[in-house]
Amino acid sequence: MTRKIWVGDVDVGGGAPVRVQSMIKRRTSDVPGILEDMERLKKMGCEIVRVAVPREKDLEHLKEICLKAPMPVVADVHFNYRIALKALEYAHCVRINPGNIGGKDKVKEVVKKAKETGKALRIGVNAGSLEKDLEGMELPRAMFESAKRYVELLEDMGFFNFKVSLKASNPLDTVKANELFAEHFPYPLHIGVTEAGPPIRSAVKSAIALSELLKKGIGDTIRVSITGPPFPEVTIAYEILRNLGIRNRGVEIVSCPTCGRCQIDIEGMVKEVEEALSYVEKPIKVAVMGCVVNGPGEARDADVGLAGGKGVAVVFSKGKIVRKVKEEDAVPALLEEVEKLLNSL
Ligand code: SF4
Repeated sequence: MTRKIWVGDVDVGGGAPVRVQSMIKRRTSDVPGILEDMERLKKMGCEIVRVAVPREKDLEHLKEICLKAPMPVVADVHFNYRIALKALEYAHCVRINPGNIGGKDKVKEVVKKAKETGKALRIGVNAGSLEKDLEGMELPRAMFESAKRYVELLEDMGFFNFKVSLKASNPLDTVKANELFAEHFPYPLHIGVTEAGPPIRSAVKSAIALSELLKKGIGDTIRVSITGPPFPEVTIAYEILRNLGIRNRGVEIVSCPTCGRCQIDIEGMVKEVEEALSYVEKPIKVAVMGCVVNGPGEARDADVGLAGGKGVAVVFSKGKIVRKVKEEDAVPALLEEVEKLLNSL
């Protein structure tokens, strides 16, 4: 088991649930927009959120964000250790990349400040920004060696309140680097594939890497990095955790792919249902099925489900038919049944 650290009031490692993180994509100066995104991410189950702090003048924005944020904030700092020092006064955790923060002396300054403020650090090694002297080494080994030298530096300074990430854009390199780290060190790992691309591609890459690691018990927090708004990052992360049997939060959706037999708009219905139920916390299973072939079976098996017919749908709750409605009333009827079920749980 890894050591436990605290990022604000969220425990990471040491037997805590695998935490789900995301990252704000807006400019740091857009404080209202960021807070709005954070509220939505929080409702979806995001537990820790990272915010980039690229310029000194963003520190004021960071301060306001951290004061109002609904969850712990990790400030993401590159190149300028002075920003990291100041960010430690506001954020619950500061992420530095040892490969670009300016060498060991600068890292020591940051560690000293983290000790003084009682804040956590994340040592974030990224395949794209390794130290020059590691070039030529096999990538996972180079990532591990980069992490190792800074972990040892932190240990020498008597600082243990940190987590580590080793990320590459290739899932297999990410897996190997994290395996190496977990073999040698007890510190919590934040795992994910970096620069993983748009949602569908990232979901595949992330699922490959994260499931490989999580099945071995490696990984204390996860992030699914996608190009685009952050919200699907949380959905995909929980989907991975649910399907590995690690954390079951929110709605599992069973929906048919549709085919030539389908006579109602299942695709549109699934989109509506997924959107409407994205904030549900309790673990329930909802089925949205196109026709009588597999529809009644799946809908009956789910907590709440619907099976389509010709312009109509039959709604099930806990295995029993509770309503037969016209197509246009199908989603509202399903959502009402979900609401009833949630109220009874
Ligand atoms: Fe086609 Fe019916 Fe199966 Fe959906 S449930 S894929 S509509 S056969």
